[in-house]
Amino acid sequence: MGNAQETYIYCGKLIDTQNGKVLTNKTIVVSDKLIKNIQDGFVVPTESDTKIIDLKSKTVMPGWIDMHVHLESETSPKEYLERFTLNDADVAYNAEVLAKTTLMAGFTTVRDLGGTGVNVSLRNAINKGLVVGPRIFTAEKSIATTGGHADPTSGFKKELMGNPGPKEGVINSVDEARQAVRQRYKNGADWIKITATGGVLSVAKSGSNPQFTEEEITAIVNTAKDYGMKVAAHAHGDEGMQRAVKCGVKTIEHGTEMSETTMDLMIKNNAYLVPTITAGKAVAENALKPDYYPAIVVPKALAIGPRIQSTFAKAYKRGVPIAFGTDAGVFEHGQNAKEFIYMTEAGMPFMKVLQAATVTNAMLLDMDKKIGVIAPGFLADIIATEDDPALNVSAVLNVVFVMKEGVVFK
Ligand SMILES: [Zn+2]
Repeated sequence: MGNAQETYIYCGKLIDTQNGKVLTNKTIVVSDKLIKNIQDGFVVPTESDTKIIDLKSKTVMPGWIDMHVHLESETSPKEYLERFTLNDADVAYNAEVLAKTTLMAGFTTVRDLGGTGVNVSLRNAINKGLVVGPRIFTAEKSIATTGGHADPTSGFKKELMGNPGPKEGVINSVDEARQAVRQRYKNGADWIKITATGGVLSVAKSGSNPQFTEEEITAIVNTAKDYGMKVAAHAHGDEGMQRAVKCGVKTIEHGTEMSETTMDLMIKNNAYLVPTITAGKAVAENALKPDYYPAIVVPKALAIGPRIQSTFAKAYKRGVPIAFGTDAGVFEHGQNAKEFIYMTEAGMPFMKVLQAATVTNAMLLDMDKKIGVIAPGFLADIIATEDDPALNVSAVLNVVFVMKEGVVFK
């Protein structure tokens, strides 16, 4: 018996995300799903069936990880109406296209922070190899309180509002909080997402008020822990954000109005900020287009959107732990890499941003022995850009090669 067929990837530049260095002239040896080893120079294979991929003129790095996407949908003025017109199967077919777009943009892993539950089926279909997309960790359906940011019936006429309850992720007590977490587990979630404050795109007045009590958040975090899940909290306003960090939430999404007190609490509790600057810029832009959003959304988008980048800059400077996530879906999928540009603009060096999008995110997903680094034994999630983004960050928008688990997709 000969060895399994191997692939040799010739890398002109190879970014070592573990040490934050750019290496030159290396050969990555890929065997099946895994990286077997990395050798100096461009190694000539001895087996005749070895496949060679020539990326000598490209910059090679681990596949990117986006900690905040919504693969079930994409922004459009029709989005609000589609909640009434699309069946789950329609959502699934759309999501399949959006997942593929995401992978082709260089994102080999994503965390989906909320949809209807189709995202669980999408994850499973991708894992089975039935459809093309990134590896998904999903929160299934976000948990909210009545009228909160992720209450799926906010803004409906009364007859349609009903009372969704914990099964649909709407809670109003400690008991319901536990029930909603257990239901997410039963439905196949990997993470728990709560909407700790109001949000921009929900049909509701406040974009930043606190929407959970500390008792409710504590019940959610503790119950999630029992099931091996961590909690992510959407938060714009400081009060709701601070409660979330205090009660053990692991990632704060957006963080728009974060005070210095909350920043220090995040440092103390080792909670991570997921900036989503791209989404902030997109909503502020879309809000200027006539009738793009419902009228109640427009002032929120204009007030909150532009603030995300400057808060991120302050939080980074103060030492808040930073992850990488975009909120793709709020803007067009496949544009996720713009976040690299916005984060570097705000003062975080490119290499540090890349490490957030690889090593840090892998650690948060408990995948730090498998993804985020190009090293022996890791999954062969490998991408390449035409130009070197360490020299010119906009090179991240031109991903020319994508391999996931040893399979070439681009
Ligand atoms: Zn989101």
